[in-house]
Amino acid sequence: MKERTLAIIKPDAVERGLIGEVIKRLEANDLKIVAMKMVYMNKAQAEGFYAVHTERPFFESLTTFMSSGPAVVMVLEGENVIGRYRELMGATNYKEAAEGTIRREFATDIEKNVVHGSDAPETAAFEISYFFNSFEIVD
Ligand code: ATP
Ligand code: MG
Repeated sequence: MKERTLAIIKPDAVERGLIGEVIKRLEANDLKIVAMKMVYMNKAQAEGFYAVHTERPFFESLTTFMSSGPAVVMVLEGENVIGRYRELMGATNYKEAAEGTIRREFATDIEKNVVHGSDAPETAAFEISYFFNSFEIVD
């Protein structure tokens, strides 16, 4: 099934000069980019984005981190792209992520884990519309 997913290169990765590294891996794995821009979220915007995690103990720290610097947001499109991109990212905790995944190779912390990816079609739709209108996504 053709899907779309929201990808974020998180502030830790932008700060460390890993934008190109992440994009190279997306392209090498046939994950097609159909929208892309840089954003610098404020705290309220990061809280809105991660609203599903409001009750989690790491919510405060996570939203502070996500609003600590610029991030790159992208829409990826393709067959089963949600799962394929999550596979390329690796597990949330980089210590448990498979060999060769982005988080395994570049994450430094369970929170500062380089990339974000939507986890289901419904969350992808919410997350894409959080950052992009229809004119910003190429067909
Ligand atoms: P993401 O949603 O960013 O793609 P994910 O779906 O793998 O990551 P979630 O459970 O949705 O993981 O958590 C969202 C983010 O919150 C994680 O990517 C990480 O930055 C942070 N996080 C998750 N669990 C923890 C934790 N136990 N301690 C600190 N930060 C955490
Ligand atoms: Mg998630």
